Amino acid sequence: MCRHVGYLGPPVPLRSVLTDPPFGLYRQAWAPRRQRHGTVNADGFGIGWYAGGDPVPARYRRAVPIWADPSLPDLARVIRSSAILAAVRSATPGTATGEEAAAPFASGPWLFSHNGALDGWPKSAEPLAVRLNVCVLDLEALVDSAFLWALVLGRLRSGEPADVALAATICAVEAAGGSGRFNFLLTDGRSVAATAAGDTLWFRQAGGTVTVASEPADDEPGWTEVPDRHVLRALPSGVIVRPLTAATEGIGIR
Ligand code: GLN
Repeated sequence: MCRHVGYLGPPVPLRSVLTDPPFGLYRQAWAPRRQRHGTVNADGFGIGWYAGGDPVPARYRRAVPIWADPSLPDLARVIRSSAILAAVRSATPGTATGEEAAAPFASGPWLFSHNGALDGWPKSAEPLAVRLNVCVLDLEALVDSAFLWALVLGRLRSGEPADVALAATICAVEAAGGSGRFNFLLTDGRSVAATAAGDTLWFRQAGGTVTVASEPADDEPGWTEVPDRHVLRALPSGVIVRPLTAATEGIGIR
């Protein structure tokens, strides 16, 4: 189970989200405090961020553990952004290695990350790909997360709101016979959507900022845990949490 974090608010250096918090993503790579599956997240990492006036984010991904990248401290000190999504990876058995297999996955304005696993990958993806109409050859990498991202992206492209697309993807995978843990994190740089489905998810909204993370980055007050099988939509001005089933009400699960 990997760990991930999303931030929206006034521009901040990447380090204030990644490395400065005492129990932030950097530390979660080797000492997560609430991770339910796996112990370290040393199979790569990735950071995505938005520069002012450009809707398409930049990504920096590496296959090494986040603490083993000598270039990161400088980048994290000087790059500032008002929208950041980052992840550290503990690879699921049977998935590809390499930086292309590390979140965030991207398309256009979107950045996506997945904490969890599709049970039985890669075998289980075959019938799901047929039923849910995904071409496995088109995936960004041969990873369960890239497969799930392809499903989410299809829904975004058909006009579903981000939180609905995440919740509906989980419901569709399960309706098609798939199972697993599906904590998703998605942003377009303006809002963040995320699911709790099998692992931990928290958020903190304070002072015109919102942080959505697998686990609290510090022991300060203000963190709220999202109940399992819920989806969240976050803006710096407010957070809405609802059950997956409420988000998908009224749309056909396909
Ligand atoms: N299954 C995904 C991967 O292999 C996510 C892993 C995780 O959450 N540990 O990258």
